[in-house]
Amino acid sequence: MEMRARVAVAVETPQHAGLAALLDYSCDSELPPGTLVRVPLGKRELPGIIWHRAAEQPAEEAQLRPVAEVLSALPPLSAHWRALADFAAAYYQRSTGEIALSVLPPELRRLTALQLTRRLERLHSAPDDATDGRASAESSAKSSDKASAAADAAVARPQLSAEQAAALAALATPGDPRPVLLHGVTGSGKTEVYLREAERALAAGRQALVLVPEINLTPQLEARFAERFPGRLLVSLHSALTPAQRLRHWLLAHLGKADLVLGTRLAVFASLPRLGLIVVDEEHDPSFKQQEGARYSARDLAVYRARLEGCPVMLGSATPSLETWHRVQEGRYRRLLLAERIGGGALPRVRIYDMGQLPKQSGAPLVLAPPLRQAISERIERGEQSLLLLNRRGYAPVLHCGACAWKSGCPHCSAWRVFHKADRTLRCHHCGLTERVPKACPECGNLDIAPIGRGTEKLEEQLGDLLPGARIARIDADSTRLAGALEAQLAAVHAGEVDVLVGTQMVAKGHDFRRITLVAAINPDGALFASDFRAPERLFSLLMQAAGRAGRDAEQAARSEMWVQTWNPQHALYAALRKGDFEAFAASQLAERRAAGLPPFSHLALLRAEAKDAAVATAFLEQAAGLAAELAAGLGCAGDVTVYPPVPPTMSRVAGIERIQMLVESNSRPALQRLLAAWLPAMHGLRAAHRGLLRWAVDVDPLAI
Ligand code: ADP
Ligand code: ZN
Ligand code: ZN
Repeated sequence: MEMRARVAVAVETPQHAGLAALLDYSCDSELPPGTLVRVPLGKRELPGIIWHRAAEQPAEEAQLRPVAEVLSALPPLSAHWRALADFAAAYYQRSTGEIALSVLPPELRRLTALQLTRRLERLHSAPDDATDGRASAESSAKSSDKASAAADAAVARPQLSAEQAAALAALATPGDPRPVLLHGVTGSGKTEVYLREAERALAAGRQALVLVPEINLTPQLEARFAERFPGRLLVSLHSALTPAQRLRHWLLAHLGKADLVLGTRLAVFASLPRLGLIVVDEEHDPSFKQQEGARYSARDLAVYRARLEGCPVMLGSATPSLETWHRVQEGRYRRLLLAERIGGGALPRVRIYDMGQLPKQSGAPLVLAPPLRQAISERIERGEQSLLLLNRRGYAPVLHCGACAWKSGCPHCSAWRVFHKADRTLRCHHCGLTERVPKACPECGNLDIAPIGRGTEKLEEQLGDLLPGARIARIDADSTRLAGALEAQLAAVHAGEVDVLVGTQMVAKGHDFRRITLVAAINPDGALFASDFRAPERLFSLLMQAAGRAGRDAEQAARSEMWVQTWNPQHALYAALRKGDFEAFAASQLAERRAAGLPPFSHLALLRAEAKDAAVATAFLEQAAGLAAELAAGLGCAGDVTVYPPVPPTMSRVAGIERIQMLVESNSRPALQRLLAAWLPAMHGLRAAHRGLLRWAVDVDPLAI
């Protein structure tokens, strides 16, 4: 009888299924690690990845089930790629199989060996249709590498600014393997530095990976890279691609045919056999953290991956995250500074407007302070654009009955339902519950129910009255729901067909608007008093980003302004904003964090439990806390880890489900990791004793607590 090989296979089984991380199977021939296979599990057949040879255990040989199918047409996933998945699984406390399989294109997991072979044949014969819908600039893409490098050099490139040249020279100096923070004010030309570094990687025969926080930032960046590298194959990877596109792009990267990969957080797991550069643009952006399933930080994984592959990694931001900034201070990251805007234009003048100085008046508070309204009118007369930022969509955040104090709460969530005037609905932004606005108060029948507060829809309407004749547009999650709507609206702004743009944070980031000379934050104070310790960091970064949308054309920079309407003009955050002083802001925030023992001076994990009945979730977490205490004592790290009592989060109820969370804090990352590694597997056993517990999960390095 022929000797059969034994392999350990990564299969997508969620950790709480209680199965081992890798499952053993037998196969006819020695299959290399990284090979995609299909294996039987129970009555199902699942995709899997051969992780390594299994240890010999002759006694069990008979029970070992054979691999069902080998997708041998696909080159194996590399050892580096598997090491990245292993690290992510261990760090974020998931199973290896869950991470490894969930980050593959969904289509790849479904295909049979035959289907996959056909796809690959089609790709080999015509790889160039990968960049869907773009001009056929890639038709020459598969010329030799030398020819491609020559084509790269032939494209017109701008003369580098002195700061850009200095940064690139520093990057070119060998011998410093540290991750780089490219700290550049908005409009300082960070993208040009990415482009030049990518050029260097491509010239060396390597691939470049560029991560951006949001899908709607990809088209603009894609266009810039495509224009700069007409002879190269560029693919994007994000969740808005069709399954077929995503598979094709992923395969082109995996086969080494694509030179440039641009994507959102999931692209950090792209398989890149010749990876030579990783860029994380807007590295501070919370979107790099996955918020469900395996809650990984793509930024942090990018840094780990670069070290694994021995390639440079560049984190770009005007307002770096305090974690990254702290690492710069410790000397673990290297900072390169672009302090000046291209063309020498000044950053907009910041005007903190004290709403308290407005004359008291009866009725609704003023939308725009009179001098702000005046400043906007002047812009309209000059043919310039203004951007008004209000981080709340809908017409009004809540409806209210003056007779009985009824408010439009959501019956399923601890949240108000938002009044949307356009379709006269009340919508819960958390569970989606949508109903027609009642004609009268549902409690007392009073006909006079009124909206309180203001969302973007109402602001848009009020601006129509305040600025007659002005062309006003609104960009938020509601106005851009239809495919292509966002692109069309942005195009209208770029074409100068809009005088005043109203938007949520969606418009504050990244966009290279050329005609905006005024940006105003209408009502940003809420974040000053939010319970989340990261709220001030977010607000500061959002306002700096928003300010960066103004005066991007150097000629207009001198008369650009950033307005902030506030009831707290003395707040330190606004003082730092006025001076555009990130370092002062970061220093004061870090001092507060140090005093409070918060990240980056401590390390956090958040355990969340959900049940219809909050008491069930609490009891589960309390028992888990008891278990943690025992384990920590056994591991000798009891003094290093603190487990706080379970509490409801701010949004404690969503869609009828109660959430309870428990914070775990440690001054030592290894101690925290040791405890989690012992604790979480043991918690699977606790679950059975808590009937009614729906879900529990751990979030390592949570962004919001
Ligand atoms: P950032 O990402 O730092 O906000 P960008 O990379 O978008 O800035 O650059 C701002 C603008 O300056 C862009 O329109 C870009 O094309 C232009 N730019 C960048 N570098 C140069 C340069 N060296 N010479 C001329 N224009 C440049
Ligand atoms: Zn009422
Ligand atoms: Zn709801």
